[in-house]
Amino acid sequence: MNCAMCEIHACRNNLEGAPKNCPSLDEDMDKLKELYRTEENYTIVKVSTKLAPQQGKTRIEETIDFAKQCGYKKIGLAFCNALANEAKIIDKVFTYNGFETESIICKVGGISRETVDLEHSSNSMCNPIVQANFLNKAKTDLNVVIGLCVGHDSLFIKYSEAPVTVLAVKDKVLAHNPLAAVYMADKYYKNKLFPPKEK
Ligand code: SF4
Repeated sequence: MNCAMCEIHACRNNLEGAPKNCPSLDEDMDKLKELYRTEENYTIVKVSTKLAPQQGKTRIEETIDFAKQCGYKKIGLAFCNALANEAKIIDKVFTYNGFETESIICKVGGISRETVDLEHSSNSMCNPIVQANFLNKAKTDLNVVIGLCVGHDSLFIKYSEAPVTVLAVKDKVLAHNPLAAVYMADKYYKNKLFPPKEK
């Protein structure tokens, strides 16, 4: 599979002219499509596909629309300690828009970095497995990630029982806008993203 380097993008239409190694032509495609027929998957894909073309809405508005149209009532907010102020506002927004919320910070449990054999620090380590676990216990319908660190988000998503969507990704340099580095990949960020290789 190498869709990222494909110049044809035949999958946007009817697959005409698709390259030989195109995954759209895979023999398992019909079987895989059947997965959209389970109740939860059907609702999620139908609502999100319907909402995808709409223009002019911010990510948080889209998240609210998505949750409402899926019929979700209880929203779990899994947030990073560094975005605690933002989480408070986001909680108010969801509550105002008719949802019940459960929110949980990454530092929950206050567990030491020594748990994973790292040097002690006054900062406790993030605890994404417990974040997911508590939201599972609260039986949230949809969990929203707010700026969890790279990797902590992976564990949160791995352990969340409810579907997960990401409202914010953390980028400590670029005001939580990681694509800014990508847009500058051929200019100011070139040497950072494509560092000269050692010979
Ligand atoms: S699915 Fe096929 S046509 Fe679409 S981007 Fe990938 S290789 Fe290209």
